[in-house]
Amino acid sequence: MNLRSYNTFKIDAKSNDFIEITKEEQLQSIIPTTDHLLILGGGSNILFTEDPKEKIIYINTKGIKVLEESSNEIFLEVAAGENWHDFVLWCVDHNYGGIENLSLIPGNVGTCPIQNIGAYGVEVKDVITQVNFFSIETGKKQSLSNENCHFGYRNSIFKNELKGKTIISSVIFKLSKGKHHLNRNYGIINQRLDELFPNLPVDIKKISQAVISIRSEKLPNPKEIGNAGSFFKNPVITEKAFSELQKKHPDIPNYPALNGVKVPAGWLIDQLGLKGFQYGGAAVHKKQALVLINHSGQAKGTDVYKLAKEIQGKVKEFYGINLEIEVNIYPNSFSF
Ligand code: NAP
Repeated sequence: MNLRSYNTFKIDAKSNDFIEITKEEQLQSIIPTTDHLLILGGGSNILFTEDPKEKIIYINTKGIKVLEESSNEIFLEVAAGENWHDFVLWCVDHNYGGIENLSLIPGNVGTCPIQNIGAYGVEVKDVITQVNFFSIETGKKQSLSNENCHFGYRNSIFKNELKGKTIISSVIFKLSKGKHHLNRNYGIINQRLDELFPNLPVDIKKISQAVISIRSEKLPNPKEIGNAGSFFKNPVITEKAFSELQKKHPDIPNYPALNGVKVPAGWLIDQLGLKGFQYGGAAVHKKQALVLINHSGQAKGTDVYKLAKEIQGKVKEFYGINLEIEVNIYPNSFSF
């Protein structure tokens, strides 16, 4: 089985052991197990640098269930295999608010809690009440409340203590109905709303459309060019390191963060003139330096990885900053 259509980088990788899960019950014939499994959702955050040897569990369960609702809020349980952006559009169409700023983020509902996806001032942790999952070791179904998911910036318990130990089956969201809190803290959102809908009242649908407009302008569509969205995390550096850096680069963009100052990784890469830079069949996207692409359509996973290493080296050499990779590199990022 070729995994090319199961990873958004469109990298050729072969699997001899691939199971598609369309119903939760199917998992009972696979877990508990001590075997190493590779859980695949939308394939939007993985780079295969070799053929996986593990059994691949492809989560393709569907369904949105209303658990509870009142005049101003609704609780929805959503199957892990639902596409994230389709779910956002469904909510916007039904006038359920809270995730409109997260439009067009790649991936599936089941993977959204793992890295606590976020964009334009909203994080998915703001609307998740519970995550349901199966323990691979015991086969038992369990759940964690929002508080116990230990959400942080692009982080959660599923990337740490529970890494490789669970299969997320569904996520419960609490969304607003009727009266919504519109998050317009990011200047670019207001700017785009003014351009697209001058003098019109703003609602969740318009925010979603503004986000889609901004993102589609600079991000390549994975259906046309293989990519996995942002390849690197935006580094957070100490105040001291930042003031040193600012002396050398007075125009460096910066944002306050929990433990220091957040610096856009895309800017650092762009300043080094690396937009369009290629290695084998891989390249830095010309419109957004944070995105690496399968430029030729025939790139190998190792081309992308070597390109990433080259970028990390140059950023370290020039700014003294360690750029961390956000995408899971197979096999390096997996604790098998
Ligand atoms: P961008 O808009 O060029 O911004 C780059 C960085 O600057 C991000 O780290 C962003 O913080 C920060 N930033 C920009 N304006 C800010 C403000 N007004 N206040 C605080 N921080 C600000 O980034 P981009 O790469 O094109 O991405 C756009 C948005 O999508 C960002 O919010 C980004 O985080 C998000 N995104 C999320 C995922 C994911 O969850 N997997 C993947 C790709 C992009 P924040 O990161 O805190 O927003």
